[in-house]
Amino acid sequence: MLNKFLSLIFPTACIRCRRIAKHGFLCTECKEEYEKELSDGCLSCGNPHAKCRCDSKYLDNEKLIYAIPYRSDGVSRELLLKMKTSNNKALVSHLADKMASALKENGIEEDVLITYVPRSPTKIRLEGVDQAKILAYALAEKMKLDIENVFICRGGVKEQKSLEYGERDIYARTRFSLRLGAEEKIKGKRVVLVDDIITSGATVKVCSEILTEFGAEDVICLGAGRSVKY
Ligand SMILES: [Zn+2]
Ligand SMILES: [Zn+2]
Repeated sequence: MLNKFLSLIFPTACIRCRRIAKHGFLCTECKEEYEKELSDGCLSCGNPHAKCRCDSKYLDNEKLIYAIPYRSDGVSRELLLKMKTSNNKALVSHLADKMASALKENGIEEDVLITYVPRSPTKIRLEGVDQAKILAYALAEKMKLDIENVFICRGGVKEQKSLEYGERDIYARTRFSLRLGAEEKIKGKRVVLVDDIITSGATVKVCSEILTEFGAEDVICLGAGRSVKY
């Protein structure tokens, strides 16, 4: 009630175009465009996004699931980029819903442990949010799944997109390690590793290898979005 009243006095701006957002975080036009991006499915294989297994340079494709596209010039991309700098509750809840549906569409509903790819402390200080963590907690709550913070992320603010594929792999390897005591938490578990945007897959691959090395039985990488090369 109070929220409804406040939204009349202070209408929310559309995340993408700043017009009045009549649908949570999007205006009518952007929402229509976004829904089309979702219903189009993957432009490369034609599958719904949750079922797309388009080639990844690093990952075994069976282990990669993502919820929404990361369409260049699209609304989906704007939503995912917004997640990197803000903790917009409606957006977090929406993306977590999409991630939960993507898992369910792949038959994953229970007996899994959620964890996530953390951001480095430097980057959190600069941007203000740890976006994969926020998404992972929202997802775990929605699906009533256990969640553990198992990784330590070192390193600075180097943007992976400035690196070549081989370099990404090496860079990712130097950044992540398992937290003290985390081994007990992952041993024998099927783990869902959450990230916000999966690009080459270099980061999730490194984290996935660490999890397996320390006893996880299986690791599924779940991105809110994925940039597939069309
Ligand atoms: Zn808009
Ligand atoms: Zn595809």
